[in-house]
Amino acid sequence: MSAADALKAARAAGIQLGVDGEDLALTASVPPPATVIDLLASHKAEVVALLRPSRDGWSAQDWQVFFDERAGIVEFDAGLPRAEAEAHAFACCVVEWLNRNPAQSLAGRCFDCGDLDHAHDPLLPYGVEPTGHAWLHSRCRPAWYEARKAKAASALAAMGIMVPVFHPMEPRRRTEQPPSDATRASRTAKNQFACQRQMNGG
Ligand SMILES: [Zn+2]
Repeated sequence: MSAADALKAARAAGIQLGVDGEDLALTASVPPPATVIDLLASHKAEVVALLRPSRDGWSAQDWQVFFDERAGIVEFDAGLPRAEAEAHAFACCVVEWLNRNPAQSLAGRCFDCGDLDHAHDPLLPYGVEPTGHAWLHSRCRPAWYEARKAKAASALAAMGIMVPVFHPMEPRRRTEQPPSDATRASRTAKNQFACQRQMNGG
């Protein structure tokens, strides 16, 4: 069990966690299970570190709340199976991580290969204005962006937000009826709401 697992177990047991100096502050409406308390005690320093906001302003707890919210919206409001909802929530977390951890580089050099402008493949800016741009050849951009997404997934995994196992081709639950037009429209709206920030990529 990792510190991220301890954090999840605490949330599942209805414990609200905070940090008080170097200590954990626990709030719960009912006495928490001893197993969860033991788990938190054995990972105290790492759990405290996870509860502190990182450089992007969010703690592991903030990421878990964001993930749970997104998964809940898609599962309960849009009516998708839990695994699919978690896959969607994870994708939203990756987008949010990229937005919160923008990459910047100076104009004139490719951020990926380090080469100068090419006449046949000029350097282009990626990213949004408030956080600056990463300059890349268009041929370098796809691999660079995949590496960025892998970095996001790795950072999220370290905080207990894991890539869900989801097979899109699996048949849906047999009891599910084909969605009506109204439901389809609602799902589209909810999905847009659930993950509406633009991918920065930079
Ligand atoms: Zn390049």
